[in-house]
Amino acid sequence: MAARRLRVDARTKTMSREALTCRSFGHSPVPVPVEAKERLGAKRKGQRIIQLVCSRGCGYERRIIADWSTCEVISQTSKYSDPGSYLVKEHGAGRVPRQASRAAFFALVGDE
Ligand SMILES: [Zn+2]
Repeated sequence: MAARRLRVDARTKTMSREALTCRSFGHSPVPVPVEAKERLGAKRKGQRIIQLVCSRGCGYERRIIADWSTCEVISQTSKYSDPGSYLVKEHGAGRVPRQASRAAFFALVGDE
């Protein structure tokens, strides 16, 4: 089959390799310790705090507050690094479509 040249969205040029990987295939979150004072404060309210960061270093963070006994999620928030890597600056700060990210990823690593 003839090789086809991928069209790469120019906005992905500001994205790190880690950010391209995460946007293309999803984050790789790992739990990190929660400050003791905060953890105990949540426990008194019958809640657990779970903090996750992406192990690839793209800057993604997620914070989950769950019920202590049932572990049911009460709330969760996600945070991304400053625009310029995972979030693109041009045309409004935001995420590029996954397909655009994958095209840039494959252009970067080689289209085998
Ligand atoms: Zn990530």
